[in-house]
Amino acid sequence: MDVDVIVVGAGAAGSAAALRAADGPGRVLVLERDPRYLDNSNTARSTGMVPAAGSALQRRAGVEDDPERMLADIMAKTGGSADRELARALCGASARLVDTMAEAWDAPLELVRDFRYPGHSADRMHAPPDRKGRTWLEVLAARLKARPNVDVALGAAVTDVRPSPDGSGYRVRVGDSGEEVTCRCLILATNGFGADPAMVAEHLPEISRAVYFGGPFSDGSGIRWGMAMGADTAFMDAYQGHGSIAPDAGTLVSWAVIVGGGFLLNARGERFCDESHGYSETALPVLAQPGGWVYDVFDEELRQEALRFADFRETDAMGVVGRAEDEGALASRLGVPPDALAATLEEIAACVRTGRPDRFGRRFARTLRPPYRFVRVTGALFHTQGGLRVDGKARVLRPDGVPIPGLYAAGGTAHGISGRGASGYLAGNGLLAALGLGLLAGEGAAARLAGAADA
Ligand SMILES: Cc1cc2nc3c(=O)[nH]c(=O)nc-3n(C[C@H](O)[C@H](O)[C@H](O)COP(=O)(O)OP(=O)(O)OC[C@H]3O[C@@H](n4cnc5c(N)ncnc54)[C@H](O)[C@@H]3O)c2cc1C
Repeated sequence: MDVDVIVVGAGAAGSAAALRAADGPGRVLVLERDPRYLDNSNTARSTGMVPAAGSALQRRAGVEDDPERMLADIMAKTGGSADRELARALCGASARLVDTMAEAWDAPLELVRDFRYPGHSADRMHAPPDRKGRTWLEVLAARLKARPNVDVALGAAVTDVRPSPDGSGYRVRVGDSGEEVTCRCLILATNGFGADPAMVAEHLPEISRAVYFGGPFSDGSGIRWGMAMGADTAFMDAYQGHGSIAPDAGTLVSWAVIVGGGFLLNARGERFCDESHGYSETALPVLAQPGGWVYDVFDEELRQEALRFADFRETDAMGVVGRAEDEGALASRLGVPPDALAATLEEIAACVRTGRPDRFGRRFARTLRPPYRFVRVTGALFHTQGGLRVDGKARVLRPDGVPIPGLYAAGGTAHGISGRGASGYLAGNGLLAALGLGLLAGEGAAARLAGAADA
């Protein structure tokens, strides 16, 4: 069998790439190994927040934003270490991406106005009302099905990828039978390597003992195929962590409860970091606390706000969010020394009174108001942010910077824009790199088929 474009993986990256490539006249084949990817993929598990600067939804809401401002936020979060060229390309494409998703692909997206993740200087997160990536992934799946020039094969695990002997494209091996499909353009969208313990131990030893919370088939295969075909890799030590997973429910506890004034408390009744930096870099400090877990402490008002998030509703419904009527009850329910808890609450109250930051540098706008709420949380690895080196057109590059003809990577298979380690991850960088690079890869493939020399 021969097609024009093969997309491996049908998560955010693969779906965006296939939909955009299908705008051209070529035949597109999507190979997805997991028949249940609408439940399992990283995208399906995500909160579905897509950042964009200058979108129609922002304009309608009167939000002033532009790609340069978004780029500045990304560079600031990484201390200047992110790939500026790639970040600029993704910020530049972000409004087109979200507008295309909302208008051409019918994805249910609204502008998030009720809270802002740390590091964003404008309201630029676009999410489905239930804050579930799965919600728009299902819509994209339906759009793919409806395209006459797209075939989606589920349960189609790609096992090997090689250049065609005549250099005209690629040979892709599918399943145990070893059936081969050939194509002119190949888009790798199999996500990163979070589910491969050996690769995590090699590249991300600091988070290797944490629970992995992403898709089960993120085994680094796309990255390995690219490397075998001469591709370079970049930022392999970058990842998205999270400091707020409820181990007793197996669910994500929305960071919105922290942004709104909640805090993390260890078993000694003490805070231990500036939670306002972000959830990704908080994974390691949480894991470093006694037992490797802590409490998210917030109040009923913040609980009500967080119930907008499907993940939080699940956590709440599992009965793991506790309630304490006053400070004494909170100390006793948490089993922490009452004087240590009192000192922690007083430190926060003093910050609110004086307007000064606490000893970690965090500022508090308000104190919590009883009844208190709490949930036990731990740190986790969400997804990896290093991968095949790509340029601003999603083309996979050799170590000398020359693109490998007709080979593209998107999402977790490509290198990201989060610098190194966990602290450079700005909320939204994951789906921006997945959907944004997917869009650019699809555009590139369509242009290449149409004869463009530089696509
Ligand atoms: C709980 C959680 C919440 C998150 N929330 C957000 C958020 O709100 N905003 C944000 O920006 N990021 C978020 N992220 C990160 C985001 O989920 C990822 O960055 C993004 O989904 C990656 O998309 P992808 O398409 O690269 O990977 P995936 O969505 O995982 O898709 C890859 C697909 O490839 C398939 N595949 C793998 N190997 C093969 C093979 N050999 N053959 C065929 N198919 C294969 C897999 O089955 C899978 O379906 C979150 C992550 C988690 C864990």
